[in-house]
Formats: sequence, structure tokens, C-alpha cells
Amino acid sequence: MVKWCPKCKSYASINQVYCTRCGTKTKVFPKCQCGAEIMPANEFCEKCGTYLRERLTFWQQLKQLSVVEKMALITIIGLICLMVCQLLFTR
Ligand SMILES: [Zn+2]
Ligand SMILES: [Zn+2]
Repeated sequence: MVKWCPKCKSYASINQVYCTRCGTKTKVFPKCQCGAEIMPANEFCEKCGTYLRERLTFWQQLKQLSVVEKMALITIIGLICLMVCQLLFTR
């Protein structure tokens, strides 16, 4: 059984009821779907290889981009469109 603090995301020992860093009540870290113990720092389950972090969808990833990155993406898409148009219409 692994306990952790949900507020500051630090490990706690099994007997520890409150977090020593921020005083928040510690919680038992949820297990993997296969029943294996998960360390809060792990990204994958060591028993079955399931990805434990929440996967971001394409649109969620787009939303997290900065304005400069969005502009760059739009420019690249625009350039690709231009090239495709040139290929299609210049004969
Ligand atoms: Zn804490
Ligand atoms: Zn697992």
C-alpha cells in the first residue's frame, strides 16, 4: 500500500495520517486496473504496462500551445496548403 499527499503530491509512509509538509490528510494511492501497486511518480504500471497518466487528446494539446506556437502551426499548415495547390494547379 502506498500513501501520498494529494495536495503537494509527496510520498507518505503507511502509518502517516497527515502530510509532514503541508498538513493535508494523506490518501492511499489508487491501484492500477491490474491490481498492482503504483508509485505516484510512475508513468507506466510496472506489471501490465498501462499508461497511468491521463492522455491528452489532440485538441487538449492544441489548447495548451502558446500563441507563438499556434501561429507557427498555422503558418506551417498554410505553407503546406500553398505547396499542394501549386502541385495541383501548375501543369
Ligand atoms: Zn502535503
Ligand atoms: Zn497494471
